[in-house]
Amino acid sequence: MNQIQSINYPIYFNSVTTHLNNFINEGKYSRFFILTDEHTSTHCLPYIREKLNNRDDFDLIEINAGEESKTIDFCIGIWKMLIDFDADRSSLLINLGGGVVTDLGGFAASTFKRGIDFIHIPTTLLSQVDASVGGKTGIDIDNLKNIIGTFTQPKAVFIEHAFLSTLPARQVKSGMAEMLKHGLIADASYWNVLKISDLENPTDQLIYQSVVIKNKVVTEDPSERGIRKILNFGHTIGHALESYSLDNDSNPLTHGEAIAAGMICEAYLSHLKAGLPAGDMQEIVDTLLGVYGKYPIHESCYTALNAIMKKDKKNQGGKINCSLLTKIGECRIDNICTDDELCDSLKYYAS
Ligand code: NAD
Ligand code: ZN
Repeated sequence: MNQIQSINYPIYFNSVTTHLNNFINEGKYSRFFILTDEHTSTHCLPYIREKLNNRDDFDLIEINAGEESKTIDFCIGIWKMLIDFDADRSSLLINLGGGVVTDLGGFAASTFKRGIDFIHIPTTLLSQVDASVGGKTGIDIDNLKNIIGTFTQPKAVFIEHAFLSTLPARQVKSGMAEMLKHGLIADASYWNVLKISDLENPTDQLIYQSVVIKNKVVTEDPSERGIRKILNFGHTIGHALESYSLDNDSNPLTHGEAIAAGMICEAYLSHLKAGLPAGDMQEIVDTLLGVYGKYPIHESCYTALNAIMKKDKKNQGGKINCSLLTKIGECRIDNICTDDELCDSLKYYAS
């Protein structure tokens, strides 16, 4: 449980002292840059500095915390700092943060001077079990999530449990939504264990299992032509809710909260269209509502949500596409859903 192999890079668990030092001391890189946000520079950077024996040959780039930073403006800010610091093509960008830092940093690195190497040191549960694995990088435009991006693999990922000690409970629960999703789409026995676990304090074993599931899927289908789409369960409606909430709520939903609500709607659609047994649907709904409660969706938002879904990058030929469960632990890709079906699933959630 110390290391697994991904597409063409290793994922290390709780062994940053050895492996990060080895990686950096290989002599492959001319310069090192660490990208943080305002929280990870306080909570996580000192830990990494200490593990690297307080060496001082790193330049720091800091962005504001939160999804609002996952934009082209912040990306330009990173590119400009890399230029000011004279970064060359043998530079390494170290993304130290949650999914916003890993997505944005990965995108900035994959495009700077046609691509420099980067590694991820994910510091939220969500980025450890999901965002840092698989090579998706990206930014948002207006309310469209990840609409611009690349598939570029990091050179290594370092997952450290220690970072979770400063992570707010709400963010731990947010990451847990992706772990629950991994069970629902690929491993019923993992789902059964998660259901009865302390979801506010995930163990190393549970984190490891989640990474193994995600890694297996992305390794089979790195560029999302087929099987990888199962990871999108809950995300068609979830992304629309997340975007909507970012635009309209003073305290917007986290990614995981939005995906949990999306999974309830898409469990309903799974029952309607993909044969998910009623008992499985009820179990999913009860579990997710028990953990995340209910986000109030008023009927007046349905049109706006539908308009966001119409622009989802997973759509084909203008049709809205969902990955749906056939049973707990099994997922079917490419299910076209009509506006009425999507609207009914939102009504079901709200009811
Ligand atoms: P985030 O990066 O915004 O982090 C959440 C909050 O936690 C931020 O305020 C951050 O500063 C703070 N934080 C981070 N680490 C901390 C620590 N150790 N202690 C205290 N505070 C800490 O959000 P996230 O939930 O990690 O990631 C969400 C993003 O990930 C979304 O943009 C989503 O689209 C993306 N994502 C990408 C993939 C992918 O495959 N690339 C998969 C899932 C999600
Ligand atoms: Zn997600």
